[in-house]
Amino acid sequence: MFWKLCLTVALFMAAPSACVTLQSPAPLAAAYPGWFSADDHALTWADGEVMPLDDGRIFKSFADKLLSADLDDQLSLPYPAGSSFPLPKTDQDPGRLRFMPFFKKMYGATEQDVREKLVTVRWLPNSADVPLLVTTVNGVNKSLEAISAEIEELSPETKACALRPAGTFCWRPIAGTDRLSPHSFGIALDLDVEWSQYWRWDLDGDKKKMEYANRIPLEIVEIFERHGFIWGGKWYHYDTMHFEYRPELLGKRLERLPKGAAQ
Ligand SMILES: [Zn+2]
Repeated sequence: MFWKLCLTVALFMAAPSACVTLQSPAPLAAAYPGWFSADDHALTWADGEVMPLDDGRIFKSFADKLLSADLDDQLSLPYPAGSSFPLPKTDQDPGRLRFMPFFKKMYGATEQDVREKLVTVRWLPNSADVPLLVTTVNGVNKSLEAISAEIEELSPETKACALRPAGTFCWRPIAGTDRLSPHSFGIALDLDVEWSQYWRWDLDGDKKKMEYANRIPLEIVEIFERHGFIWGGKWYHYDTMHFEYRPELLGKRLERLPKGAAQ
């Protein structure tokens, strides 16, 4: 009887793993051409390193995923591109789940590695002319130059929130955590803090609660998205100043661009 019980328990515990469906790695392969080949289980990088899509952990809370996402988690939350999007539901933060070894492999594993690939982009040269350090990897600097050129064409009222960007590259942890920020890789840009809402300011400040609001014009959001950047204003844990180069979450948007435009 006892062995039957053990077998039943073992089968019950084993069952979920047999039913787990992994995210397709196709968006990664399409967004980052030339870096790796992908099959249903792993990425194989050009130098032979293999990165499994799944870490084998079945029951991960949202906090677990934030702390130690795998590639499957990274692709698991769909990003709602475009000006029409629903208010994010609890923990719907597409883009905040990041498999760190993936970013370190691509952009640099140490501050020095990352710095060697940075260049200065003159942001809004006709109206603000702010030097911003960004990576050349994946042509992120070219994308940001194209974004800057498009924002320059907007009305003074619309582009006011972009005149004093708060920063790009900075090798640092995310505020309140010891997880490395995407700013560490030179792939993220914060617009003017005076125009921004950040969940942590609301929760830790006088309000003591999160209250979604946004003052960043969606015209600007759309420009960033067309060039491969996601926006923190579409997160439940909102960060409306934050834009980050994550083309794997914008697959359908990028398909509409001319070939090579996303680079
Ligand atoms: Zn940021």
